[in-house]
Amino acid sequence: MQKEYTKQEAIQEANRCLTCKNPQCVKACPLGNNIPEFIFNIKQEDFDEAYKVLLQTTILSEVCSRVCPKDKHCVSHCIRGIKGEPININMLEKFVADYMHKEDRYLNFMNEIKENIREKKNIKVAVIGAGPSGIACSYYLIRQGYDVTIFEKEDMFGGILSYGIPEYRLPKDIVEKIKNKLVSLGVDIQFGIRYGKDISPKDLLENGYKAIFLGIGLEHSSKLNVEGQELENIYTGNEFLYAVNDKTRNKSNINLEDFKQKNVVVVGGGNVAVDSAISAKYLGAKQVTLLYRRSENELLIEKDEKKLADAENIKFEYLTLPVKYIGDKKVEKIECVKMKLGDADATGRRTPEILENTNFSINADYVIICVGSKINTADISTTKNLDYDDYTIKINEYGQTTVPYIFAGGDVSLMSNKTVAMAAHTGMIAGMGIDKYLSELFKSELKI
Ligand SMILES: Cc1cc2nc3c(=O)[nH]c(=O)nc-3n(C[C@H](O)[C@H](O)[C@H](O)COP(=O)(O)OP(=O)(O)OC[C@H]3O[C@@H](n4cnc5c(N)ncnc54)[C@H](O)[C@@H]3O)c2cc1C
Ligand code: SF4
Repeated sequence: MQKEYTKQEAIQEANRCLTCKNPQCVKACPLGNNIPEFIFNIKQEDFDEAYKVLLQTTILSEVCSRVCPKDKHCVSHCIRGIKGEPININMLEKFVADYMHKEDRYLNFMNEIKENIREKKNIKVAVIGAGPSGIACSYYLIRQGYDVTIFEKEDMFGGILSYGIPEYRLPKDIVEKIKNKLVSLGVDIQFGIRYGKDISPKDLLENGYKAIFLGIGLEHSSKLNVEGQELENIYTGNEFLYAVNDKTRNKSNINLEDFKQKNVVVVGGGNVAVDSAISAKYLGAKQVTLLYRRSENELLIEKDEKKLADAENIKFEYLTLPVKYIGDKKVEKIECVKMKLGDADATGRRTPEILENTNFSINADYVIICVGSKINTADISTTKNLDYDDYTIKINEYGQTTVPYIFAGGDVSLMSNKTVAMAAHTGMIAGMGIDKYLSELFKSELKI
C-alpha cells in the first residue's frame, strides 16, 4: 500500500523543488506534464490550480501517480537526486488528484474544460478500446470539439487498469473516476462491442465516423512451448490476474480458493510476473517461486515492487528456464535448466544461454506463465490494407496506419517500454494525428 501525503507533508516536499528553468523531470515524462508548475502551485497551497496544470496534459494523474515507473521516468531524472533525495513527484501528483476526489470536486474541473471546448466540429471519431491509449486519445479529441465514441469489448472500463494491475496497486474506484471524467466531458462509451466481430470499419464509416483509433492492446498471452503444457492448473498471467481482479468474471474458471497452502510457480521477470506472484501469495499460497531466465539486474520491475515481493517471501530463481511440466492430470513439478548470460543482442540485453546437464525440478501445484503478450490478430485481420504483425500495427509518427483513416496507439504501437504513460502518450499523439488528418480532409472537401 502506497503512503499518502498529508497537506503539510505535501507542501513540505513541494518546497524542496527548485522550479528548474530547464526541468529534466519534464523531459523524462512521456506526457510532458508541467511538473515544476504543478509543484509550484502546491507550494502556494493552490491545489485546484495544481490539478488544472496536470489536466492540461493528462486525465490519468490518479493512475500514473500510482503505477508509473519512477525509476525510469520523472523522479529518476530530478536534479535534486544527483546529490540527495529526488523530489517525490508521483506522490505529489497522487496527493493533488486524491485531494480533488476527497472533496468530490474533480468533476467540477471537467465542466470548466467542457466550457472551454473549441467550437463543436460535428465530426464523429470511433475509439476502439477503453484502455489508457483509448482514454488519452478520447480526452485529446473531445477537447478539440470532435464527437467521440469508445467501443469496448468488455463490460468494464480501463483495459489492463481494471483487469490486469491488481487492486492493491491500483484501486478500482480510481479507474471508475477516470471513466466519470471522460463521460462528463461528453465521451460516449459503448460496452460489449468487439471491433472485428460486432463492428467493422465499413459499419463505422456507414454510421458517419470519419476516423478510427485502434487502442486494442495485446490480448493474447504467449505460452512456453514445452512438454506437458496440456496439464491442468497451468495458466497465463493475464488469465490469472483477470480472475483475481474480478472474481465474478473468472473467464478461465480458476479455483482461487484452492491456492491456499499450495506451491505456485510463476515464470517471467516483469510487472505481470511479480503482480501474479504477490497476488498468489495474497490468496494464501504456501510458497511462491518466480523463475526468470536472466539475472536480477535485468528484472523489468521497479525497486519498490521487488521490495514488496521480498517482503512477501517470494523466492526468485534467476537464470532458470522451465523445460518440462511434469504431472499425471494436474501439474505437479516443473523441470528446469540453469542459464548463463551471453553476448548482448541488438537491444543491448545479454542473451541467456542454456547450461547443459543442469536439470533440476521444483514442486508446482499451479504454474502461471508471464512471458509476454501478442495482438489478437483475428480482430484486425478483416481490416483491409492494414499492415501489422503479431506484436505491432505499423504506424507513422502521427499514429496513422497504412489505412489513412485508421490510427493506432498504446501497446500495439510499442516495441518496448509498454507502460501506462507511454500508452497515453501514443494515444494523445494519434489524437493529434486524427485532428490533422480530419482538418486537412475537410479543408480539401471545402475547396471542391
Ligand atoms: C499485470 C500488468 C501490470 C502492469 N503494471 C504496470 C505498471 O505498474 N505501470 C505501468 O506503467 N504499466 C504497467 N503495465 C502495462 C500497462 O498496463 C499497459 O502498457 C497499458 O495498459 C496499455 O494500454 P493500451 O490502451 O494499449 O491497452 P490495454 O490496457 O490492454 O487496453 C486495451 C483495451 O481494448 C479493448 N479491446 C481489445 N480488443 C478489442 C476489440 N477488438 N474491440 C473492442 N475493444 C477491444 C480491451 O478490452 C481493453 O479494454 C502492466 C500490464 C500488466 C498486464
Ligand atoms: S527536476 Fe526536480 S527540482 Fe527540478 S523542477 Fe523537476 S522536480 Fe523540481
